[in-house]
Amino acid sequence: MKLGKLRLSFFLLLCFSCSQTWGQGPEDLEDNPSIQRFRDYLRIPTAHPNPDYGPAIDFLVGQANEIGLSTRTLEFVPKKPFLLMTWKGSSEQKLQSVILNSHMDVVPVEEDKWIYPPFEAHMDEEGKIFARGSQDIKALGMLYLEGLRILKAKGWTPLRDIHVVWAPDEEIGSTDGWERLYNSTEFQELDAAIVWDEGRPTPEGNYVAHPGEKALWWLVINATGESGHGSIYYENSASENMFISLNAINTFRDSQKSPVLSGEKTIAEVVAVNSAYLKSGTPTPDGGFTINVQPSVVEAGFDIRLPPVTGIAKFMDKRIAEEWAPKNRNMAFHFIERSGLTKDNEIPVSIADDSNPWWVLLRTAISKFNATLTPEIAPASTDARFARLLGITAFGIMPIEHVPFLFHADNEFMNGYEFLKGINVTVAIIDQYASFPGPLVSAL
Ligand SMILES: [Zn+2]
Repeated sequence: MKLGKLRLSFFLLLCFSCSQTWGQGPEDLEDNPSIQRFRDYLRIPTAHPNPDYGPAIDFLVGQANEIGLSTRTLEFVPKKPFLLMTWKGSSEQKLQSVILNSHMDVVPVEEDKWIYPPFEAHMDEEGKIFARGSQDIKALGMLYLEGLRILKAKGWTPLRDIHVVWAPDEEIGSTDGWERLYNSTEFQELDAAIVWDEGRPTPEGNYVAHPGEKALWWLVINATGESGHGSIYYENSASENMFISLNAINTFRDSQKSPVLSGEKTIAEVVAVNSAYLKSGTPTPDGGFTINVQPSVVEAGFDIRLPPVTGIAKFMDKRIAEEWAPKNRNMAFHFIERSGLTKDNEIPVSIADDSNPWWVLLRTAISKFNATLTPEIAPASTDARFARLLGITAFGIMPIEHVPFLFHADNEFMNGYEFLKGINVTVAIIDQYASFPGPLVSAL
């Protein structure tokens, strides 16, 4: 009996603390309208494989109406809309525009790995807001809007046109997203000088900006050869030829991996080559493989990321053709994806030093917060690559400090207090960019 009572009160105690943990977070943040709007956006599920952009667009149009920005949608592919918000600049001169870009889609979730449901935007007592997209990259989109809202309220007006671009499908390669937009007359008409796109938060404080990113190649190589008995040595068998290639690829991979592991270089500075799949064998009806038959075809797929170093694509092309999949070893190759290269086979990078006024303006905005700005090549792809291919300056920056990098991670979160600080930095950057009077064109 006693024990039972004890258990009951212990249970009640647990329940009480439980409801505390699952409570609504710190009150000051809870009541903050910027935080409320951010969490509202996070609650709209736009996860692949079937993102429904409609509710996100409705929400964002509502935001634009409140702030006083004009809107229009562009639909190059059905159900894959872009939303454009515009604040007209006051300059009489024809000054090129400022683009604030973010994508609306988010990567899928494995719900059972999350401590809170990924589309509830739960806020804990430390002000952490848990949601898929809370970092990548709904936070940035909402920073733009909160920044513009403050600037409107202040009575500030931009010299240059500001366009806020909301893109679909970035997380699945942008084939129906920016790849459609950047070649369109609608985009040309925006006449962009500078594109602000996604970057990463900095756990250690201060800020980083991506002036460029690694190019993405998905390579498939095939080896063909004589099929035959498992006991015989054939000259030029498919497996033998593939093994020679795998050795060569691995040697090259080690040369790139070692300096990263030793801390000499970052992953952004080297070629990353990782095996995605190996496919071969003569299947048996029970789902296994026949062991005493040598296969006539072997196929291997690789994810390759190239740093923006002059001549790197030509260097890799030669290596693939001559060492990894040479014709004289009955090998062939093709790319499933090969993006981010100019017509001259180079990877474009925006100039991130004082010779580029757009960099100076960014640094000036950041310095108001006694912080530093460091250029860093992004290890993965973003939509900014399309702008750079057109020769438009593009920097990827997320003005958020003291938050761990959790893009695509389980339990992705944003800290609400850091988000509020980020709004002030966003205001400063937009002010610098959109107030810049120079007749300057984009400098890549
Ligand atoms: Zn992203």
